[in-house]
Amino acid sequence: NRNPNGTTTRNYHAEDVIDFAWSIYPRFQVQEDRWQDVQIRLLISPEHAYLGPRYLHALKFALEYLNKHVAKYPYPSITVVDPPFHGLRSGLMEYPTLITVGTFYGMPSGIRTMESLVVHEFVHQYFMGIVASNEKEEAWLDEGFVTYFEDRIIDAAYGPDKSVVDIFGYGFNNRELTRTEYSTMANPREGITARPGWHFSERNFKPLIYSKPATTLRTVHALIGEEKMDLLLQTYFERWKFKHPKGADFKAVLQERLYADFDSAFAQNVYQLFETSIEKAMVLDYAVIDILNETLPASQGVFGPNTAAFTYEAGTGTGKKRSTIVLQRLGEWVNPVEVLVTFADGTSELYTWDGKEGSHRIVILDKPDVIAAQIDPLHKIGLDMDFNNNSYTLKPNSVPLWKYAAKATFWIQNLLHSLSFLM
Ligand SMILES: [Zn+2]
Repeated sequence: NRNPNGTTTRNYHAEDVIDFAWSIYPRFQVQEDRWQDVQIRLLISPEHAYLGPRYLHALKFALEYLNKHVAKYPYPSITVVDPPFHGLRSGLMEYPTLITVGTFYGMPSGIRTMESLVVHEFVHQYFMGIVASNEKEEAWLDEGFVTYFEDRIIDAAYGPDKSVVDIFGYGFNNRELTRTEYSTMANPREGITARPGWHFSERNFKPLIYSKPATTLRTVHALIGEEKMDLLLQTYFERWKFKHPKGADFKAVLQERLYADFDSAFAQNVYQLFETSIEKAMVLDYAVIDILNETLPASQGVFGPNTAAFTYEAGTGTGKKRSTIVLQRLGEWVNPVEVLVTFADGTSELYTWDGKEGSHRIVILDKPDVIAAQIDPLHKIGLDMDFNNNSYTLKPNSVPLWKYAAKATFWIQNLLHSLSFLM
């Protein structure tokens, strides 16, 4: 409405929202798109306009993914605001139906941080906007869920191995980068995740509020499978949409679904893993430290039972084989361990250990030599602080390669960290 004094009054109306924001900048370029019945509006600074399609592609993929795996997006529109360079401080925020993102002119196509940012901020529509948990008192509850879905969506959209970085011959996926952010923390015992946001420092908030709970959800996902994981998250979403759940409310849904879908011993293990991760500042780390293959000496003879007059019977035994795998628990966090043992003839077998003692020996008799042992061979337990010590092999080469890859991950992570710091 035009007012008599020359000003204009505009009215906006939205249902079921917890917050609002608006954005004005005369030089914004508007790029419009659509996903099903959702209207997409990208307000982008002109120097970034050529990058617009990258945002839109990632956003539409996220809409499709969340509609399939969680629930239908309930609003008629989504507006994405990409501020110009001098307005970058207003980037990376989320409001119902409006998110702000950020990029640089010249962002290489092989570094997909702008895609992961738009996906991250969009997932907040679901976790924080619709399932309206308290982002200050329980920051992990929205950031952990959002980062977990950011990993899933980016890895699904851009390939499982090099989804977020694919440059100079290096490739890393979003999930591994998230995990590394936690596992390379200088002091992972610095504090617990389930604390109000104001207890965190500049140094530890990202790994403890974002990466650790995301890696925890990823670990639960790997243990129970995608179908049950989706069912768990759909149950949580349906029960708490347009309400204000607390961490305890998610834990109640987790417990309910685990005990409904699995036997109680497994359900208890998974639940305990989640609770320990969020509410304790412990370190989980298991290692294979040695493999020994021996041939036991053939028995030479035995002394008979009559101790008064030792009688000697000649032995008939031949040399038996014995392999020993030495495992250690290096952290105070106890979790069941699976070990894949590979023999010289190429066969392999899975062994289990409850993980409780400080160290444990697997003794195998009369089998071909053991050439390798690997804890958690499918890397389900992303919370394990060090994957390098999970495997031990008597064959040369494979261990150094692993270490090299980990170093490169660390280097790329630092690079990305510098990039996001600039934002
Ligand atoms: Zn966030």
